[in-house]
Parts: sequence; structure tokens; C-alpha cells
Amino acid sequence: MEKEFVFGHQNPDTDAIGTAIAYSYLQNKLGYNTEAVALGEPNDETAYALKAFGFKAPRVITKAGSEVKAVMLVDHNEPQQSVADIADVKVTHVVDHHRIMNFNTSNPLYYRAEPVGCTSTIVWKMFHENNVSIPSNIAGIMASAIISDTLLLKSPTTTPDDHESLPALAKLAGIDYQSYGLDMLKAGTNIAAKSETELIDVDAKSFSLNGKNVRVAQINVVDLAEAMARKEAFLAAMKTAATASHYDMFMLLITNILDSDSRALVVGSDEDKAVFEKAFGQKLQASEMALPGVVSRKKQVVPPLTQAFEA
Ligand code: MN
Ligand code: MN
Repeated sequence: MEKEFVFGHQNPDTDAIGTAIAYSYLQNKLGYNTEAVALGEPNDETAYALKAFGFKAPRVITKAGSEVKAVMLVDHNEPQQSVADIADVKVTHVVDHHRIMNFNTSNPLYYRAEPVGCTSTIVWKMFHENNVSIPSNIAGIMASAIISDTLLLKSPTTTPDDHESLPALAKLAGIDYQSYGLDMLKAGTNIAAKSETELIDVDAKSFSLNGKNVRVAQINVVDLAEAMARKEAFLAAMKTAATASHYDMFMLLITNILDSDSRALVVGSDEDKAVFEKAFGQKLQASEMALPGVVSRKKQVVPPLTQAFEA
């Protein structure tokens, strides 16, 4: 069987990389010939998880068509978040938990979307449905993906399915998911070692909102004051990135993973900033807004922004 790549989105997180590894393993058991690859290097949190379960970081690709004719997507579907030549390859499978936007194919495909907290929760079900047992290291990287996406089951994206999948996978992996999870999340919060330009790109996604090119980046911290001390430098880096990449608006969500609160920094025209203010029902103060209880870009940021831009 001809080889296919399995990968998650650009600027990969632990779900994008971990679930690609798990789904590739499952598909190979089911008779496909796949390789898990990534559209970027692992972030610090993902590197911690890979090391904990003995995985090497998947090979990084930016284009697929020179090596394979067909691909499988996990943890994304929007083409601007995918491989650069996604339009030139055949997408045979998608397993995802995001909104579906601008996704078109010329061929029939397997498409599975569920509104659960993590793609690994869907893949966990698929292992069961196919009677394939989950090796302990694969269970560990899947548990890591769920911990990451749900912030240890605390994000509002968390569903009863995630409450079931994480303990089950943690048991297979032989970990205490509370203590392992906190260590893993903390491994991703060391912002002191990185420049503002690096930090605004670690976990950033582009969205097309009513024709506007909107960039939403998120960083996890355990000390909001430490991050906010660098506010002016963040705003400068965001302005530079917005000019270089033609973003109409750039939003940085700085999330305190310990108390589940966020601070937003916003760069854009006055008109676009007004849309942002409408989306969240309050005024920006010097390009800054407190967003108590907001931790999920997918569920608490993109939907109100989409609604405000389309109104
Ligand atoms: Mn992701
Ligand atoms: Mn995800």
C-alpha cells in the first residue's frame, strides 16, 4: 500500500503531534502504510511528553506532495493551518474536533468530527471500535494530548468522553495523570527562555473571519505578572508579525493555567479593535483586556470573534 502522511496543524501542540503518532499507529494496524510527521518542531510541553514516553519528535515537513500522494489530517481541517500544498494532495481521512471551515475535497473521504476536548479522545474510541489494543507508550502520548487540550480536564471544552478517556489511558500508561499532567503543563510555561517573537508563534493559528485575516496566539503561564511585564515588547512583536504576514488583527491570549484566567493583548486597526471589544463586551485598556475564565481559543475566543466580525 502506498505511503500516506498523518499530521496535525502548523505550530503543532501536544494533540497535533501526539494524536498523529497514535492515529498513524492505529491506521498501520488496520492495514494502511502511514508515517506520522509534523508541520513544526514540538513545543517545550510536547517535547516533555514525547520524552516521557520514549518517542522521538516526528520528522518536520512543510510540503507533502513530493513524498506522498495522500494524507490524513488530525486536529485540524482549515487549509491555512495545514501543509502548504494541501490543495495538491488527496486527503483520505480527517479526525478532528474543531469547527469546519473552507475545507473542500474532490474525492470522498473518511471524516470524523466530534465536539470533544481532544482529538485523542476520538482516536481512543476508534482503537476500541476496531478492537486494537493501545500500547502503554501510545496511551501515554494520547493522555498527554488530552491533558494539554483540556488543561487537565478544566477547560470548558472538556466533555464526559474526555473524563472517561484520560483516566483509562493514564491507567494503560501507568501514570498518575494529575501529577504527571501538572508537570507536563508546567514544562510548557517557561517563557523566560524565549523572545517575544518566538512566544507569539509557538501556539498561533490564523483564521479567516468574514474576509479578515485574524491571528490568535496563546501562551500558557503560571505567573501572569511575569508575562505582563513584557507587554510592550509583545505588542511590538505582534505589530511586526502583523505587517510581515498581512494579519488584519493579531490577538495574544496569555493564559494562567493554575487559575484558568487570561489576559488578551490586541494589535490592529481601530475599526478591528472595536469589533474585538464588541465580541467580548468590554473596552480594551491600552490594547489589553482581562478575560476571566477564558482558557479556550476554540470555544471561548473564535466563536465570539467570528460572530462579531460577521455581524
Ligand atoms: Mn491542536
Ligand atoms: Mn486539539
